[in-house]
Amino acid sequence: MRLSRYFLPTLKETPSEAKIASHRLMLRAGLVRQESAGIYSWLPLGLKLLKNIERIVREEQDRAGAVEMLMPTIQSAELWRESGRYDAYGKEMLRITDRHNREMLYGPTNEEMLTAIFRSFCKSYKELPKMLYHIQWKFRDEVRPRFGVMRGREFLMKDSYSFDVDEAAARRSYNRMFITYLNTFSRMGLQAVPMRAETGPIGGDLSHEFIILAETGESAVFCHKDLVDMPAPGLDVDFDGDLQPLVDERTALYAATEDVHDEAAFMAVPEDKRLSARGIEVGQVFYFGTKYSEPMRANVSHPDGKERPVHMGSYGVGVSRIAGAIIEANHDDEGIIWPLAVAPFKIGIINLRQGDEQTDAACESAWKALEAAGLEPLYDDTADRAGAKFSRMDLIGLPWQLIIGPRGLKDGLVELKERASGERQNLSLDAALDLLRTVCASS
Ligand code: ATP
Ligand code: MG
Repeated sequence: MRLSRYFLPTLKETPSEAKIASHRLMLRAGLVRQESAGIYSWLPLGLKLLKNIERIVREEQDRAGAVEMLMPTIQSAELWRESGRYDAYGKEMLRITDRHNREMLYGPTNEEMLTAIFRSFCKSYKELPKMLYHIQWKFRDEVRPRFGVMRGREFLMKDSYSFDVDEAAARRSYNRMFITYLNTFSRMGLQAVPMRAETGPIGGDLSHEFIILAETGESAVFCHKDLVDMPAPGLDVDFDGDLQPLVDERTALYAATEDVHDEAAFMAVPEDKRLSARGIEVGQVFYFGTKYSEPMRANVSHPDGKERPVHMGSYGVGVSRIAGAIIEANHDDEGIIWPLAVAPFKIGIINLRQGDEQTDAACESAWKALEAAGLEPLYDDTADRAGAKFSRMDLIGLPWQLIIGPRGLKDGLVELKERASGERQNLSLDAALDLLRTVCASS
């Protein structure tokens, strides 16, 4: 992509309304624009980021055997009356009336809708287990939308729903998502700690939140320090095998959010291992048994011929919130530092002397070679000063900068800078391209 044709409205000034780094940087790097409180447009660079996050979430859902579908954003109030949540949900629900005076709502979550879909097609235990998911916009009329996309009103969520014959089977589904979430966040360069959590309006009594530790996080959390750097289970996990030992390993040590915190149990953790911190909730998993299937009569016939309500769980990932969480965890004074796996572009090419014949030609050939390798670099071919190009490239945080100018080219050299370490090396253009092809292909 040529920057001269792209749409990258970066800001020089720090927007005063932004209180935390990720919000400031998302606005300054031209990723999003606020349209009204808690409602954002995703500008081209932001959309690429969002799609990369979404892709990793999707790949890991698929790997775990969940099946993708798409439900609408607008739902009928009727469904929510069946479960009893229409009145219980309160002011966070955006209620809408259509031209025929029918009560509708912008979905804050989809337990009711998927339960209704399930019950209309699945009648027998033989069709179980089933795990379905979608990635769709949600609306919650939050009292205090803030921190940019971290607490929006309209936000993108991946939500999965599991259907099982009984509690034991439902726990196996729960474990699948538990393990999948750890792998998902790890692929994005995030260390998520699973913590026991309150179930809130979703209901049930078994739940974990996945928390990224960050000073600017909204949740107060308490955990054993050993959980913080425990590696993710890894992509070669056998999802058809017994996942309980992997889950046990990660739930044996104390970890809880404020709402379910047990001070006495926490005090039993050795003092040097106690961590009381703040965190960002990027995902949550719930097992709620028959909370929806019973009132909504989503029953399946069992081998004994009797019908019983199906056991359900739901599993959410805050796709758009993760964009903010990644920046909270990866930035410096100059700007964002994208982990390679989610970077909107992996490589930026900086032309230090636009209009200089030899420099333009070297940049064009680098651009084409990287395009041909499927790496789609962002080529800064604008007429801006070198200093402005450097600071913009640092601000938008692309992992690799390929810097090409007449001075280096005289000796047959270009410069390659790694954004994260700040390390620079001079090498021939061919060597630089080879290196980029190798390091970028592996993510
Ligand atoms: P919170 O406690 O932060 O309000 P929640 O527990 O109500 O979130 P869930 O119903 O568990 O949210 O939704 C699943 C995921 O969706 C959350 O883990 C979070 O990552 C994301 N999410 C929830 N609310 C918002 C929001 N207002 N803006 C952005 N992401 C959100
Ligand atoms: Mg939650």
